[in-house]
Amino acid sequence: METSTETRTLRNYIGGGWVEAASGETLEDRNPATGALEAIVPLSGAADVDAAARAAREAQPAWRALAPQKRARAVIALREALWQRREDIAQLVTADMGKTLDDARGEVMRGIESTEAACGIPHLLKGENLEGVARGVDVELVRQPVGVVGAITPFNFPAMIPLWFLPFAIACGNTFILKPSERDPRPSELIFELIDGLDELPDGVLNLVHGARDAVNGLLDHPEIDAISFVGQASTARYIAERSAANGKRFQALGGAKNSLVVMPDADLEMTVPAIMSSAFGAGGQRCLAGSVAVLVGTREEQDRALDALAGAAADLGVGPGDQDGVEVCPLVGPEARDRIDGAIAAAADGPEEVVLDGRRDAGPGGSLIGPSIVATTDLDSDLAREELFGPLLTVVRADDLDAALEFVNGSRYGNAGSIFTTSGGAARAYRWGAEAGMLGVNVGVAAPVAWFPFSGWKDSIDGDLHANGTDAVEFYTRKKVVTSRW
Ligand code: NAD
Repeated sequence: METSTETRTLRNYIGGGWVEAASGETLEDRNPATGALEAIVPLSGAADVDAAARAAREAQPAWRALAPQKRARAVIALREALWQRREDIAQLVTADMGKTLDDARGEVMRGIESTEAACGIPHLLKGENLEGVARGVDVELVRQPVGVVGAITPFNFPAMIPLWFLPFAIACGNTFILKPSERDPRPSELIFELIDGLDELPDGVLNLVHGARDAVNGLLDHPEIDAISFVGQASTARYIAERSAANGKRFQALGGAKNSLVVMPDADLEMTVPAIMSSAFGAGGQRCLAGSVAVLVGTREEQDRALDALAGAAADLGVGPGDQDGVEVCPLVGPEARDRIDGAIAAAADGPEEVVLDGRRDAGPGGSLIGPSIVATTDLDSDLAREELFGPLLTVVRADDLDAALEFVNGSRYGNAGSIFTTSGGAARAYRWGAEAGMLGVNVGVAAPVAWFPFSGWKDSIDGDLHANGTDAVEFYTRKKVVTSRW
């Protein structure tokens, strides 16, 4: 593997300055396409988190006291800085995580969109009141910040997901500590360089701590941290929820997914097939909204027509490094992720499943490339049908009608997202009514809500009640106080 002679060790950003992590342990951040060593990531520990928590606590009273419209102006300034450097952030997303540049640009725009939604904070923070509940007695509800809040984020959206939380948290008057994924931390580092350059954001309001498990445990256990936002695998989400709750912290923990795409016999395949290609294979299938199971509805002939169209289109997708033109299927985040998918296809090939398209190929210099695969199964309880594999592998199951399709969809322990492809309003409505998932698409493959709505998984796709973005973010980052007055 290629290595650079001058590889930087990343630093934490605490109390308005860049500091080396106290812990000496490190990890390598490698480019998944080339294998090049991009940076050394410090594995911060409890002492580093403690420094960040103290800085955030010290900054919080003055930040809270700043008028909401001035906090909104700080978020507007951040939005402008992100906008100016959006291409640089996207390049880092591709270099660290692997996704195509177009996809990375889309991700950065989604992150910017969250800052735009948070700019409306003076409106969003307004309370409620009710006059005259008794003679001379009025009741008012005000929203106050939670205090110091932490966010722990995953590798698959290294720019967007930190920005789901950061702008809303500070707009509400909290101070904030980010622990980005240790696998692709450089987009976060650049975002904090921009923050460092903004006079509108006082020292200590925003802090960055690199690391993995020890840093996370430091955040979960620190008494000065009041709330935790998390996005990652379902098993990690459950751990975060339990440890946060045990320590008396408010939490929102968004977990994994296994999303189904229902293809009705009346679907317009010309529109449906490209949407499914992007949903199943975009970002190498490493999206929490990826459609990883296609449920083909109808007669055997109708199902086969859809399957042939999907297999033909998938075989034509460009596979390669994310910074090359014409690439649609990027490398996975690392060789282990690639080997996991390789193993799942090998197991399917040896078992009763039908491997319709086999994407196994030379893994490339970074050891992370694998092409799109399609596997048809009749075992509706298999890992292929039920577990999140997080790679460019589309499972196909068959259903006689929409009721049978919905029974399969709702048999999942996850409930993040799902889509139906149909030209029938009645089928679309029945799906919307009955599908047990928080984000649905009708003729849309990746049903990602815009930032003014919550990002709303159900079932094992979330621990906690409040989602990211939209008014849920304001609910999560504020405490309500109800004042009853007599005059
Ligand atoms: P992950 O759970 O491995 O890691 C997420 C974060 O948790 C990282 O910052 C990591 O350092 C930390 N972490 C991991 N294991 C830990 C442990 N044992 N103890 C303490 N901290 C730990 O997730 P990932 O692989 O980075 O991200 C992919 C996952 O995220 C997928 O399951 C995907 O579906 C999910 N995801 C969900 C959503 C959503 O909105 N529901 C959005 C994006 C990604």
